[in-house]
Amino acid sequence: MFADFGTFAGALIMKQDEQAGFSTRAVHKGRGYAGTTGAVMPPVFLTSTFESGNAEGFDYTRSGNPNFRMLQESAASLEGARFATCFASGVSAITAVVSTLQSGDVVLAEENVYGCTYRLFDRVFAKFGLQVRYVDLSRRENWGEIGRLRPALVWLESPTNPLLKVLDLAGLGKAAARAGAPVLVDNTFASPWLQRPLELGATLSLSSTTKYVNGHSDCLAGIVATNDKGWQEKMIFAQKALGLQPSPFDAWLTTRGQRTLALRMERHCANALELARWLEKRKGVRMVRYPFLPSHPQYRLARRQMKGGSGIIIAELDCSAKAALAFCKRLKFFTMAESLGGVESLICHPASMTHASVPPEVRRKVGISDGLIRFSVGIEDVEDLIRDVDGALGGRKSQAPRSKLQRSSKALAGGRQTSNRSASNGE
Ligand code: PLP
Repeated sequence: MFADFGTFAGALIMKQDEQAGFSTRAVHKGRGYAGTTGAVMPPVFLTSTFESGNAEGFDYTRSGNPNFRMLQESAASLEGARFATCFASGVSAITAVVSTLQSGDVVLAEENVYGCTYRLFDRVFAKFGLQVRYVDLSRRENWGEIGRLRPALVWLESPTNPLLKVLDLAGLGKAAARAGAPVLVDNTFASPWLQRPLELGATLSLSSTTKYVNGHSDCLAGIVATNDKGWQEKMIFAQKALGLQPSPFDAWLTTRGQRTLALRMERHCANALELARWLEKRKGVRMVRYPFLPSHPQYRLARRQMKGGSGIIIAELDCSAKAALAFCKRLKFFTMAESLGGVESLICHPASMTHASVPPEVRRKVGISDGLIRFSVGIEDVEDLIRDVDGALGGRKSQAPRSKLQRSSKALAGGRQTSNRSASNGE
């Protein structure tokens, strides 16, 4: 059914692509499955099943589909990996990895991990006997815990959500290797354009491609990349056995979004750096954190480890939680929404949104204060973004067009909206 469907141009690139640059691979890597049509862009294979005995070995979409293969080939290439497996979301990818562990296994995790990772560890996998120890791994004096605990997995995130801590991936990789522990890095905030964890010694690089990799906020998906055949087999098994696969259309959208990753990341980084520098000088802003600002505690490490600072800034406003929320609502080019990494700018209040599922005492301990704001800086014109933030800090509503949602319901701007978000904690 699927003999060799690579186009001639595609086949040529396949031969040369190991020397090709990041953007060339992002555009060309992965077969087109164009068949005899000459279609330059691949179709969406909306099929649940495949005729048995086909040349490509497809059987049922839960365990494989041409759209998954295209995404997996190109994602693996961008991560500098031999293999990649795609999932329905970043959380599905996390579930796939954690499902490989045994009852009684210990995971040593950076203490500031994404809120739903924390929720999965503590409210789902703990029931099955998983033990997770949280440590501040930005402090070298804590690395001894890796040798002491000899965990089944070291779980890192860098930069972290939402505090933007930068962890020394190469150093931690070596410490884990000495203890015989595999390392997973959640690379969602950086994307493979800024940082490739496998090249720094990680065993697994996980991304919620929902964010920068797809970049258009129009679908969810996740990727786990590895050079280790054994881990790859476990990921394929988890995809199929747990039903964690994306839809073919979402895999197609993610493959399409990934083609422009480098271009978008350049703009995200440039805009965020400019806004962060401006915020640092603005009255009423108590603290600004951005990996490529010299004031960031791990600035030198970030410069060494990452190609750019990415598009996320956190700031602490010199005001109460209520006033911080009111500031978010005054912004017009930053939509108040969970998620990040899309072309459009978003604003988030972690304590009531993304990290609402983290107990308040844990939030306080790791530094997620009530006044903390997270900007996901999009690819708009940075002058407009700065004007918007300046106006909102000054208590003014920007002149930017109001969104349909903002126009349609006063109620949505009130407490009900906030409490719904707290309950759902989607991101
Ligand atoms: N990892 C990080 C660092 C995240 O920020 C997110 C979501 O915000 C996820 C994983 C989960 O991704 P998804 O929303 O695609 O399930």
